[in-house]
Amino acid sequence: MSLIGVQSFACGRWVDPGAGAVVIADAATGAPVARVGNAALDTGAMRDYARMTGGPALRQMTFHDRARMLKSLALHLDQHRDALYELSYHTGATLADSRIDIDGGIATVFVIASKGRREMPDDHVYLDGPPEALSRGGSFMGQHVATPLRGVALHINAFNFPVWGMLEKLAPALLAGMPVIVKPASTTSYVTEACVRLMIQSDILPSGAVQLIAGGVGDLMSRLDCQDVVSFTGSAATARHLRSADQLIGASVRFIAEQDSLNASVLGPDAGPGTPEFDLFIREVHRELTVKAGQKCTAIRRIIVPDAHVGPVIAALEAEIAKTRIGAPKLATTGMGALVSSAQKQDVLDGLALLEKEAPRVIGDPARFELDGADPARGAFLPPMVLCCDDPDAARQVHETELFGPVSTVMGYRDTKHAIDLVNRGGGSLVASLITGDPDMAKEVVMGAGAYHGRIYINNRDSMAEATGHGAPLPHMIHGGPGRAGGGEELGGIRGVMHYMQRTAIQGSPDMLSGVGRRWVPGASEITKADHPFTRRFDQLEIGETLHTATREVTSKDIETFAAFTGDRFYAHMDDAAARRNPFFPGRVAHGYLLLSFAAGLFVQPDEGPVLANTGLANLRFLKPVEPGSQLRVRLAVMQKTPRNDEYGEVRWHVTIRDQVDEAVAEYELLTMNAR
Ligand code: NAP
Repeated sequence: MSLIGVQSFACGRWVDPGAGAVVIADAATGAPVARVGNAALDTGAMRDYARMTGGPALRQMTFHDRARMLKSLALHLDQHRDALYELSYHTGATLADSRIDIDGGIATVFVIASKGRREMPDDHVYLDGPPEALSRGGSFMGQHVATPLRGVALHINAFNFPVWGMLEKLAPALLAGMPVIVKPASTTSYVTEACVRLMIQSDILPSGAVQLIAGGVGDLMSRLDCQDVVSFTGSAATARHLRSADQLIGASVRFIAEQDSLNASVLGPDAGPGTPEFDLFIREVHRELTVKAGQKCTAIRRIIVPDAHVGPVIAALEAEIAKTRIGAPKLATTGMGALVSSAQKQDVLDGLALLEKEAPRVIGDPARFELDGADPARGAFLPPMVLCCDDPDAARQVHETELFGPVSTVMGYRDTKHAIDLVNRGGGSLVASLITGDPDMAKEVVMGAGAYHGRIYINNRDSMAEATGHGAPLPHMIHGGPGRAGGGEELGGIRGVMHYMQRTAIQGSPDMLSGVGRRWVPGASEITKADHPFTRRFDQLEIGETLHTATREVTSKDIETFAAFTGDRFYAHMDDAAARRNPFFPGRVAHGYLLLSFAAGLFVQPDEGPVLANTGLANLRFLKPVEPGSQLRVRLAVMQKTPRNDEYGEVRWHVTIRDQVDEAVAEYELLTMNAR
């Protein structure tokens, strides 16, 4: 195979590696694969191109436009996975490893795209929470909104997930409306470059939305300001160096760090040998030890088990590890491939020497292991290794030194408090897991260890068939952790998108807030039209369009009929004396559900028309009891519109039911699907 010259993509052009580019070797064979490094990138021009070309083009689109763009991108990448797998073998990854990286990255883009369509508006301004009442009369209100930052997101990524690591950051940034400069780790940059090339070739992204730096970032960091974001993934040492740059501190540049982490997994005392939980624990630990040859930020580095189970856990792990073949990544029988480079292997061996002073190795020997289809002298191979620490309270290195490879340490605990103390000795990590069937222990661990962890994964026989695994960050859930793990937080659905937007408190009249947010706020002007709003299609309805209904009396007979029909004979509706003894009711009152039904009877337009279905109610509150003889009327206002597809969209209606003295008795939001 000819050497890949890893190109950068700058200002709309592909740029060859410059003089001084370094050669990257195949992880398993040691043969040269790629040249990476740049000398001639104009980082100022790249930043300006992102800001002046990419940013405006992205911000012109709505959140839904950008979500659709991401979905198209994911569909396109999905069709080209094979080419990426092929390259990924050179990094030492097996096909299963590559699927985590490549399929996992694409799946993440799909989820972020879908969440963008469902949870964000088809508009340019994101509303963060409901409006806040700031005045007695309701003429002055507040609303938190978020708008995209106007700079560039610089994504500096680690070597271990060249595709997922890029896409899990790219999707939230693009959804927010921010252009991105991707800087992958040099060692695996050829895989990232191939993926960026697919994205650029697809022509789905506007110019300037994505650029790529293969090699060093030059002076780019010193050109950033408060409208830019740096999102870094890598080692604690690099993060420390980067985040302390004068320019980042001086200009308050947002800096998100996802660092290394001494993640732990705890076996509950109830989950001893012979239980399904014990077997599950062994499977989870084994998987984290061997997937990506242990080069995973979320891998289990510390195996924390009841003192009595230390021996059985080591024996069971040994049996499981014995089944794992180590070898050439492409061989179908290979369960664990190579580390990314011989330098990475040497790092692990150096760390091992340190840890072995506190925790002797009980499984695996780096000098003697079987290897299939590869030359141990050329490839960066190591076997899975387990250490055992007898005195985890006195030990330091096992809690503080990350070996980014297939190594983990078993340690015993006395009781739950001791287990929590040990878990927290990592100084803050991405994920801790707990294998138990005991919710009380789970609560104690969450209370004791939650503040030190970004994620706590609890698994047992009830959830194991569907659980996603200790080590899998999911786009729906936050990924990141405090302290040692960097203090960052990525993903978590729309939470991850917020890193690329500025939250602003808007204050003004209801009309102002409705105009800015494209969501009708009670108190804002009402638009009245001659025909019923249910007769107009989704695209014809205007925000603020309002219907005031006729009046209807609620009688005792209505209440009795409703009680007989539904079977809801709750005493407050049936027995006047009993209702009076209740502090909430003046006497016998109408059912809340009767009020909702009467409201529908008042506002519904019965003919076949563009309203296709009532899909639910939200934020329902009953505000005042309704006695027999009350006169009800309803105000129905178009509050918000969210297109779903070309055929229909969701209309959120604000509904207020009032009585004869003009007091609100119930308020809610009605959701309907309306034809376009
Ligand atoms: P690394 O050596 O810290 O490098 C990370 C990134 O920083 C690479 O892209 C690297 O580029 C870049 N970099 C290094 N020095 C730089 C500088 N002076 N200016 C700008 N960029 C610079 O980490 P790694 O070896 O790639 O990754 C392994 C580590 O990442 C492990 O410790 C692992 O725990 C951690 N990790 C954490 C997460 C997470 O989500 N928390 C995920 C994956 C990995 P070059 O390669 O070109 O030097």
